[in-house]
Amino acid sequence: MDKIIITGGSGLVGLTLKKILPQAIYLSSSDFDLRSEDEVKKMYSIYKPDSVVHLAGRVAGIYDHLRYPVQYFEENLLMNTFVLKHAYKNGVKKFIGMLSTCIYPDVVEKYPMSENDLHKGAPTATVFSYAYAKRALAIQIDIYNKQYGTQYNYLIPCNLYGEYDKFGQNHSHFLADLMRKIAQADKEIQLFGTGKPIRQFMHARDLVKVITYYLDNDIEENVNVATPEVLSIKEMAQIAIKACNKEHLKIIFDPEKVDGQYRKDVSIDKLLTIMPNFECMSLHDGIQRTYQYLMESNNAIRGIDINYTPQKT
Ligand code: NDP
Repeated sequence: MDKIIITGGSGLVGLTLKKILPQAIYLSSSDFDLRSEDEVKKMYSIYKPDSVVHLAGRVAGIYDHLRYPVQYFEENLLMNTFVLKHAYKNGVKKFIGMLSTCIYPDVVEKYPMSENDLHKGAPTATVFSYAYAKRALAIQIDIYNKQYGTQYNYLIPCNLYGEYDKFGQNHSHFLADLMRKIAQADKEIQLFGTGKPIRQFMHARDLVKVITYYLDNDIEENVNVATPEVLSIKEMAQIAIKACNKEHLKIIFDPEKVDGQYRKDVSIDKLLTIMPNFECMSLHDGIQRTYQYLMESNNAIRGIDINYTPQKT
């Protein structure tokens, strides 16, 4: 049986993947700090994998990106470079890297964006350094395939959420932060910005279905992975209070705070040519399931602890 290692195995996507692919080896920063080339070499010499799903990265919401642009650029660039380079040197057959739809250009002529739009303009200012580091991974994978004849891949997922999300303040994405606010609120929730930006938020379970499909099949194309539900932040907040059974909460927006990119919706036409039956959980059901988990599990206590800071600075 092929030996598969998952970097970033302790994160949202990694822990979700573990549910359906328990036989793989799940690694976190406490196993190997992938910013160090020596540690990456050690990881490959210990595990000698046939396949690598490279999920590890410095990942968070836009406020952390604005605060630490240097770390988002350098740490992601280092991890990606070392993990890919030594995958090739160690004869890894299959490599799946993870990009993000937030690395697409800030504005394009036509929406939804397709994979061909990736390098057609600068990314949005709020995630500028993270986006360029991730775009570099796309280029790195493309040039390894071109120069060395490998068949390595990358996927480009939209925003994600799920049971293993980070629910603490400062590091969380919009939906996890929203669920924490809903959990703590009696009368109202306050949200940053105007509520007008448009987003695709997909449950991590739907991404891992695509990852396992790529592991099981030889596929050349690199594709967007996203939900067809394209909604404004306001619409998502309304769906969320309903899904969490807290419809009485008033939603208040603070237009003084930054909105982030206005829209970055992507097409999944290319994915559907590979997986014609790909379907996503509805946002309502996904939030309901995640919120229930947050309320019932021990993670709820850790999840809404405002001092929970899993990222390194
Ligand atoms: P998380 O932030 O939940 O997890 C990050 C993972 O990376 C953790 O396992 C963490 O380990 C590991 N990691 C961080 N720094 C290092 C390091 N220096 N050395 C080794 N491991 C490290 O990320 P997600 O699961 O949400 O994201 C997975 C991938 O998907 C990322 O590449 C991300 O860019 C991409 N993605 C995520 C989206 C989202 O909305 N979450 C959207 C689109 C793409 P530890 O737990 O030990 O810190």
